[in-house]
Amino acid sequence: MAVTRHQTRRDVIRGAAAVAAAALARPALAQAAPRIAVIGGGFGGVACARALRRLDTKLQVTLIEPNRTFTACPFSNEVIAGLRELAAQQFTYDKVAADGITVAAQAATKVDAQARGIALADGTTLSYDRLVLAPGIDMRFEALPGYDETAAEKMPHAWKAGEQTMLLRKQLEAMDDGGLVVIAVPAAPLRCPPAPYERASLIAHYLKANKPRSKILVLDAKDNYSQQKLFEKAWAELYPGMIERIALSQGGRVSRRPSGLRKTNMSGNSLAHRTTWLRSDFADIAGAADHTGWCPIDPVSFASKLVPNIHVIGDAAIAGGIPKSASAAAAQGLACAAAIVNSLAGKAPETPRLDGACYNTVAPGYAFSLKGIYQPKEDQYAEAEVTTSPVDAPREVRQREADQAVDWFKRITGEAFG
Ligand code: FAD
Repeated sequence: MAVTRHQTRRDVIRGAAAVAAAALARPALAQAAPRIAVIGGGFGGVACARALRRLDTKLQVTLIEPNRTFTACPFSNEVIAGLRELAAQQFTYDKVAADGITVAAQAATKVDAQARGIALADGTTLSYDRLVLAPGIDMRFEALPGYDETAAEKMPHAWKAGEQTMLLRKQLEAMDDGGLVVIAVPAAPLRCPPAPYERASLIAHYLKANKPRSKILVLDAKDNYSQQKLFEKAWAELYPGMIERIALSQGGRVSRRPSGLRKTNMSGNSLAHRTTWLRSDFADIAGAADHTGWCPIDPVSFASKLVPNIHVIGDAAIAGGIPKSASAAAAQGLACAAAIVNSLAGKAPETPRLDGACYNTVAPGYAFSLKGIYQPKEDQYAEAEVTTSPVDAPREVRQREADQAVDWFKRITGEAFG
């Protein structure tokens, strides 16, 4: 060690002692269990938190989620149609905590990526070595002029299951026979791309049985959509003349709150309204979202491209060809956990191969699906294999897929919360 003009010998000895002390302290620090925080206790966050503990029981994993009960979106269209109760969609975090995961029932309000700290709504802060963001989606209200939180209480969007789901169901129950239900479908990217059409189908099922003179109008910001031929065939077969869809090129995009339709709503007809723009609000606060409101990631490790030591999974991530879905979020959670454990051990992440399955139930005992395998390609996820149900399948096949859909829901919620 060279002695500079301003340093005394005592300084040097003190400095050398400090370095030695730090060196002595280092093995102890290295042995401290890494602290992993996961923000968001939905399908992605819970899968990741539990997989982290399974892969390495020494990890200190904290799941930050404000709700004590999770309400699942898959199958929530059945709740809207009166085919299922909301309670069947709800799950606690008891089993997650039993895995040795600390569940902090708080919303995260800010992330300081440099200091590696998270501020929670109760004013406390939490430090982390790695952070996984899995906050799902938020409404970008200002993007649809006139449609705000207050309007959403009259025209529910039901992008998040819970109160909005029940509000829409009650509106359908209250509406007159002969009423009009309007569903505005946003442009991509959206969570669960076929969900609006599944919703139109199941609302049609309810109306056919209870208010058969009613109609559904789908105003769509897209020309084509997932599993379109299957939906169109089912609508012609099950609900002839009940559902009309206006595609983008026919003028179907909604660009402001439809005030005329709101009047219709007030006169007793129900209006199911889905706004056109979504984003991931919390990821935005954490600095992980780009100008689109979604988060760019490295597809192999799920590491944020914008902030260090942060990974993003689920709906919030920009994941190319993978549809934003519960199965994709859970698969990303598992792959992200493996990547983090490898990285902490100084190993390179393995290239993930993610499975996704998306079932659409258009009537009780009538469902079809899209199943895919997705892999990183040119810095994004791309479809490696995709299978869609055949359009001309007999009813037994639709019944079998409806049974498989129920099994899928039991499995994915069981793996997350059971
Ligand atoms: P989520 O599951 O939404 O979880 C996000 C969690 O983060 C929430 O619990 C939220 O409370 C929490 N959170 C948010 N902000 C904060 C914060 N600041 N601090 C702490 N916690 C926070 N997918 C399928 O695979 N199959 C289906 O059949 C299907 N059907 C659907 C039907 C409908 C009507 C809808 C709307 C969606 C459907 N989906 C389906 C999509 C699926 O629900 C989502 O893609 C999936 O939930 C995404 O998982 P995630 O973990 O990214 O987000």
